[in-house]
Amino acid sequence: MDAGTQKLLERAAKELVEAQYAVALTGAGVSTESGIPDFRGPEGVWTKNPDAERQAYESYPKFMRDPKEYWRETLTQPIVFFTDMEKAQPNPGHFALAELEQMGILKSTITQNIDALHDKAGSKNLLEYHGSLLKMRCPACHARFDRKAFDLEHMLKNDLLPPRCTGCGSAIKSDIVYFGEAIPPDVAKKSFAQAQKCDVMLICGTSAVVYPFASLPIVAAGESFGRGFSPTRKTGATIIEINGEPTPLTHQRISTYLIQGKTGELLPLLLETVRKIRAGEQLV
Ligand code: NAD
Ligand code: ZN
Repeated sequence: MDAGTQKLLERAAKELVEAQYAVALTGAGVSTESGIPDFRGPEGVWTKNPDAERQAYESYPKFMRDPKEYWRETLTQPIVFFTDMEKAQPNPGHFALAELEQMGILKSTITQNIDALHDKAGSKNLLEYHGSLLKMRCPACHARFDRKAFDLEHMLKNDLLPPRCTGCGSAIKSDIVYFGEAIPPDVAKKSFAQAQKCDVMLICGTSAVVYPFASLPIVAAGESFGRGFSPTRKTGATIIEINGEPTPLTHQRISTYLIQGKTGELLPLLLETVRKIRAGEQLV
């Protein structure tokens, strides 16, 4: 590692240790080292196959038009990207974030990822902004269900689709938030509150171009965004970015600094440095 990266890691570790309320924000980049491609990175699914991006816009209108047909298609023509994702395991980056939470340093982790890898790694105070592959959600009353609670194969064979909410009876969909679908109000509200409250935000592996998620660092930074929105109450959190490449947050100076590199390598080093500071060791 070069000396510049080392210095920034030490700075980040100190700021995390001194933080009153630190939160993490993560995107697809934290999971590429678990074998799940991101969308817009150099090896991203959409960078390589722009048609896949167009298809991704069709799921939500399909569900709204015909939930039975949506489920029939989901079960009979599963998308390889999702089936591979279910088999993936957390990498050292996910484990480092879970450990930082266990140490009381991170108060919550807000992720755009739908792969449930933070959950598998042991993060507890987790907000899955775009939902989870392992859950289903009622679009009417927002109740969530474990995907395993429904025998979907049996429903398919016996013409019992779509699965229905046990609370209100509406047809339910995957918990994944599709394009054109609003962020579930509970998770949107909680995430916004975390962004307002934090004094340090650690942003890992996101290109920060998908809104409204990408507005969370702006809220944390205390800047106004959009017409008619008044500036948030505070002077601004320290925004630490760990990413393979600069992002709009870097370019627009919303992030205080960028530590450039792989989250699977840098987050365990950050954790190690935090441990040293906590133990009162001198950093070299
Ligand atoms: P993105 O694909 O737009 O951007 C990922 C960013 O991470 C890029 O800037 C890339 O350079 C960087 N990156 C890739 N590997 C990295 C690594 N090992 N270390 C550090 N940085 C790395 O991802 P996004 O911003 O999360 O937006 C994509 C949207 O698609 C999200 O809303 C998410 O819901 C969804 N998505 C989820 C998954 C998943 O669940 N794992 C995967 C792909 C897409
Ligand atoms: Zn319901």
